[in-house]
Amino acid sequence: MEDSIMKRKILVSWAMLERGKEVLKKSKSEVRYLHGPKGELPTLKELIQAVRQADVLVPRGTQPVPQEVILSNPNLLGIANYGVGYDNIDVATANKLGIPVTNTPGVLTETTADLAWALLMATARKIPQARDFVLSGQWKGPGGKVFMGQDIGPGGSNKPKTLGIIGFGRIGQAVMRRSRGFKMKVVAFDPLMKEMTGKTRGVEYREFAQLLKESDFVTLHCPLTKETHHLIGQRELDLMKPTSILINTSRGPVVDEGALVTALKKGRIAGAGMDVYEKEPKLTPGLLNLENVVLLPHIGSATQDTREQMAVVAARNAVAMARGKKPLNIINPEVFQSTKYLQK
Ligand code: NAD
Repeated sequence: MEDSIMKRKILVSWAMLERGKEVLKKSKSEVRYLHGPKGELPTLKELIQAVRQADVLVPRGTQPVPQEVILSNPNLLGIANYGVGYDNIDVATANKLGIPVTNTPGVLTETTADLAWALLMATARKIPQARDFVLSGQWKGPGGKVFMGQDIGPGGSNKPKTLGIIGFGRIGQAVMRRSRGFKMKVVAFDPLMKEMTGKTRGVEYREFAQLLKESDFVTLHCPLTKETHHLIGQRELDLMKPTSILINTSRGPVVDEGALVTALKKGRIAGAGMDVYEKEPKLTPGLLNLENVVLLPHIGSATQDTREQMAVVAARNAVAMARGKKPLNIINPEVFQSTKYLQK
């Protein structure tokens, strides 16, 4: 291969995990890592300056790559996101400039579904609250406070619970598989659902409002887009059962957090389990003081194996784009036909 192609510059703007670094090293591309000594992300200004010298950018999943970063180098050959969600990237601007964008689907599906399920169980049975009670020495034996939870399985009266899945893609379907042992009825809403029903058994399609009314647990697995921003707000929370629980492991802005805090305070729903927030890492005032929430710091895909594999996928995508080849996980395949791309 031509030396100039081999030497194209890949900018990794976070502390990439080792297995990803190995892929980049083997590719013999010129690689620059841009982050602080403890893995701190660069500032927007630092990112813009570094992107000017790069051929391909590899950002961390939730690291913003706004218009000004992309415009700073219209000659970019690609952006290889480390994450399946890509709402952090201004894909519209990338499209205009003929810049391919990739993500890391599939490798994190099961891990994120595990976390969603763990969060559902922890919220339903108030596990973190009960643990805090024991650790703080408040447990004095029978007769004291009891952490009454919600059944996930059919419970003493043998009534199966209904799981409502919003966004029935890879992770949504993996969550459905986990519900089987709990004898749940599963309903789902997804604009693509009608095409999918042939492939998936044990799930019934519901219109959005009907799903909210019927479900004991509502779990969110759609991407963040213009359409899904504040998909769950006051109106939707009002439709849910007062005994129901909302689980969000998708993206924070899918839920209107202010409306959620109000609904939880007033007991309009029974609880919420959240891995993601509207203005991460800031939390809406009031959220921290609620007894009926379980809050996690965006750890959906956070296992060593999965995060390493995501790094490998991001690195392979980056190398392919640096060499002018089609990467495996392209979000905007139409750019390959664009004049802007072909001129590069
Ligand atoms: P996917 O593309 O396989 O599935 C998403 C599904 O949502 C698709 O079937 C799509 O049709 C559907 N959808 C789109 N708009 C919708 C709407 N308005 N209402 C209902 N459904 C809608 O993606 P995936 O791999 O399952 O990942 C889903 C999302 O989970 C990602 O976009 C990401 O934001 C999030 N995620 C979060 C973490 C975490 O750490 N918490 C980890 C991985 C993924």
